[in-house]
Amino acid sequence: MATIGFIGLGNMGAPMAANLVKAQHRVTGYDIVAAPVAALAERGGHAAASAVEAAAAGDIVITMLPAGPQVRSVYLGPDGIIARAKKGALLIDCSTIDVETARLVAATAAEAGFEMLDAPVSGGTIGAEAGTLTFMVGGPASAFARAEPILKAMGRTIVHAGPAGNGQSAKICNNMMLAVSMIGVCEGFALAEKLGLSAQTLFDICSKSTSQSWAMTGYCPVPGPVPAAPSNRGYAPGFTAAMMLKDLRLAQAAAGQTGSVATLAAGAANLYQLFVDAGNAGLDFSGIMRLVRGSAPAA
Ligand code: NAD
Repeated sequence: MATIGFIGLGNMGAPMAANLVKAQHRVTGYDIVAAPVAALAERGGHAAASAVEAAAAGDIVITMLPAGPQVRSVYLGPDGIIARAKKGALLIDCSTIDVETARLVAATAAEAGFEMLDAPVSGGTIGAEAGTLTFMVGGPASAFARAEPILKAMGRTIVHAGPAGNGQSAKICNNMMLAVSMIGVCEGFALAEKLGLSAQTLFDICSKSTSQSWAMTGYCPVPGPVPAAPSNRGYAPGFTAAMMLKDLRLAQAAAGQTGSVATLAAGAANLYQLFVDAGNAGLDFSGIMRLVRGSAPAA
């Protein structure tokens, strides 16, 4: 059993922390929103009144925050995790953030004597609930070895991607490809609708054909074929369109810095920007189906 401080109990963090509790770890959680902290305590975890209190309670500290600015503010400064965590604690950030912030925070942690990993995830809220996430991990091999048994309580595939920041590099490439494939699936299903082909029939064929993808078979953007997908509950997230737009912007910046071709991803970023600007930031990213189908107003 490990003692774990868990900060950020949102759509992903809450089920991840719950799986750590299920695996018999002592988990102390904190979020700026009170309800998920109370919910964790009801499921056998412990409630902290601040991020620092949660961090100080763990030999391992895990964060699952929205983006780079929150990660900087929670880790850095006199009241940050790095200043207040237990000596020797292992720090693991599972948020999806920019590579630069991941490397800066890891270097600051190393200077203060802590091992730190960036360990963003793939698999969505369905994978977080089921404990089947994929973790892509950047940081020292010794820290990876310490983290692996803990990450296994939340995920099925744990990959060491190299030094600090490499987990984030893998993650932004993954989400860039995901956004493009999600829009592709939406366009295919929208066309089928216009051609008078039912969504279920298209799914039955294409899920066994060359267009098969996770966006279709794991997270289908039309209701029916994949019961657990957000499309069956009015596109309640899941993974918000705002988060996908954030990741597409990170990928676009990285593509610009490295001179990489990312033309379809640029189109995907523009579509998600339109969708978010039209008031859909909090909708699941698969809700882009509404824009593709023409049933969501453009800004
Ligand atoms: P979320 O917004 O549901 O959760 C983030 C949580 O962090 C919220 O509960 C928020 O209140 C909390 N928070 C914000 N600032 C805080 C602070 N200073 N101290 C403590 N808590 C704070 O987001 P999410 O969907 O759980 O995503 C979290 C991260 O995981 C993001 O970086 C996202 O890109 C990534 N991600 C999400 C999914 C998904 O399907 N939702 C999948 C893979 C990766």
